[in-house]
Amino acid sequence: MTENTTTQLIQEVVDYLVETDTQELSGWGENRSDWLNQGGELLKGIDKLISGDLRIKKDDGSIGTYQAYRVQHNNACGYYKGGIRFSTGVNQSEVKTLAMLMTLKNALHDLPYGGGKGGVHIDVRKHSERELKEVSHAFVRLLQNDIGPYRDIPAPDVGSGTQLMDWMTEEYKQLHPNQPFINTFTGKSVENGGTNGRAESTGIGTFLSYYYLVDAVLNGSLKMNGKHSDKKEMIQAIGKKENVTVAVQGFGNLSRAAAIEAKNSERKHTVIAVSDSRSTVYSAKGLDVEKLAPFKEENDRLPNDKELKDMGMEAEVLDPNAVLTLDCDVLILGAIEDQITIENQADIKAVILVEGANGPLTQTADEYLTAQGKIVIPDILANAGGVTVSYLEWVQGFTNEVKSKEDILENMSERMKEVSMRVYKAYFSCEHDESLRFLCYKLAVVRVIQLMKTSGKII
Ligand code: GLU
Repeated sequence: MTENTTTQLIQEVVDYLVETDTQELSGWGENRSDWLNQGGELLKGIDKLISGDLRIKKDDGSIGTYQAYRVQHNNACGYYKGGIRFSTGVNQSEVKTLAMLMTLKNALHDLPYGGGKGGVHIDVRKHSERELKEVSHAFVRLLQNDIGPYRDIPAPDVGSGTQLMDWMTEEYKQLHPNQPFINTFTGKSVENGGTNGRAESTGIGTFLSYYYLVDAVLNGSLKMNGKHSDKKEMIQAIGKKENVTVAVQGFGNLSRAAAIEAKNSERKHTVIAVSDSRSTVYSAKGLDVEKLAPFKEENDRLPNDKELKDMGMEAEVLDPNAVLTLDCDVLILGAIEDQITIENQADIKAVILVEGANGPLTQTADEYLTAQGKIVIPDILANAGGVTVSYLEWVQGFTNEVKSKEDILENMSERMKEVSMRVYKAYFSCEHDESLRFLCYKLAVVRVIQLMKTSGKII
């Protein structure tokens, strides 16, 4: 997933829409291609980039300098919205790409938001708590006039979390006395205006995006075009298995919640592997992921052989990439981008791949695996549980009505189901041969361009 492949896909979707008489745009008359081309052009660019070097005094007395970016991509559908990542992978082009994905994700999920993303180039493991707090405050000072509850609402992403959102909220509050501040960030701690269930939401939503697909095929609620019969049979076969095997890449916030949801779901799923940047923990008989989760949280790593034995768990320790090529039915990719590439695409054995992280498959790998008849559930469909609960947190910030974790997760699940079903119905009834990713982009692009037209951004 790169800036080029993302803009290229947007262009392909626009070209397709220009050539094809889609139902949604049937009322647009002879200006249709003109509007589509204008909208596509706007979507390939960004509204605003805010960038600068964050400088802080480090614990050893030296000055630390960190490049920081916030990209506001498009606000046709509402206020800019998207996470802030703290990672050494951060650069301007990556933040821009991720901001584009947020615009598409929010549009696909009918959330009242546009797309934005932020990033700080930093290795969080090499900094003290005080240093990270200073960096987060410096970032808010850089962004102070560009973010706010009615303008741009950041949230956690890779390398950031509740603590960072609380620190940032505090700095924003100090900089803007007498102004609303509570909804400037989502993903805050529950005590500080956050919502119950935000931490688990992305992982649970990711698993559900796959689960609802199997459900819909099993209960016959999808009208199938004959050309999809192979896929139908493949999904049915998985759904009818006594025991579906799942491998999960990653074991951070997202992957932990996805793995636990898989293990406890109504139809039997066995999580055979989880991983992190140092190792894969594997057991063909299945892992007790609820037992592994607290270990990972406390130690920031997975257990080694001896520790697994001490915990009474029968499992092997393999290299970190082993998780990707294991023999399994479902592979949940919950770590970072560009994990399945031209190098390892031929070794993938899973039949269904779910993108919990943003862009874990390169475009080449996506095309290769899709051509092999595998199902790839794309990021903008699968990982929207987090931003959906961010939306619920934002609503809670206005109403002050705090909902229980069960209510929040049920609300999120219903929304994920509604959008997933809309996508799967369109996919299986479609005459054309298009990937799920192409279809999701298409539905999102249509919504954004429709709103651009309604609001007069394109004429
Ligand atoms: N960073 C998450 C994402 O990529 C959440 C964004 C949000 O909650 O605004 O979807």
